[in-house]
Amino acid sequence: MGPPGAGKGTQAERIAERFGIPAISTGAIFRANVKGQTELGKQVEAIMATGGYVPDELTNALVRDRLAEADCAPGFLLDGYPRTVGQVHTLDGLLAESGRPLECALELIVDEDAMVARLLARAADQGRADDTEEVIRERMSIYRAATAPLTAIYADQGKLRQVDGMGDIDEITARIVAALADLAD
Ligand code: AMP
Repeated sequence: MGPPGAGKGTQAERIAERFGIPAISTGAIFRANVKGQTELGKQVEAIMATGGYVPDELTNALVRDRLAEADCAPGFLLDGYPRTVGQVHTLDGLLAESGRPLECALELIVDEDAMVARLLARAADQGRADDTEEVIRERMSIYRAATAPLTAIYADQGKLRQVDGMGDIDEITARIVAALADLAD
């Protein structure tokens, strides 16, 4: 978990590789569907362009299908999911069904103003449709209102681990690896 621009995607790829499990990014799956103009892509394109959240029923169905794939059997890392209370409950249910509860929720702690600056720089560089300043501010405020409070649920369950997400990418990876060291086996 962590706000837009916190580096979740980059770190998720690295950590997943290290643990030999897939990194599942709902945002990346949605973007691929938009690019391919699938039915799902057409449904979510306008929502994503404004920085809003895709409705839970679509997002939860996607995650349910993805977690059922064979490569998730040894474990998996979710990037950008859950983002709403409904998604937290759905995930709990899915994991209970498969008899493997969530081991850990990892939060990257970052400075929001620095994230906005980072996303604006990425917008100039890569031109993602949801990277205009207005949309970035909207995504940040939705994160703060709808998603940041979810960390309290995981803290209550004793599953929340927080890592300083500011600084050098390799150093942040090292911090995460250290924070997850006891989960490695
Ligand atoms: P991300 O790459 O994780 O920042 O996601 C990009 C966009 O995809 C978000 O701004 C949402 O529009 C959508 N999205 C990704 N994950 C979710 C989710 N768990 N729930 C709702 N919408 C999502």
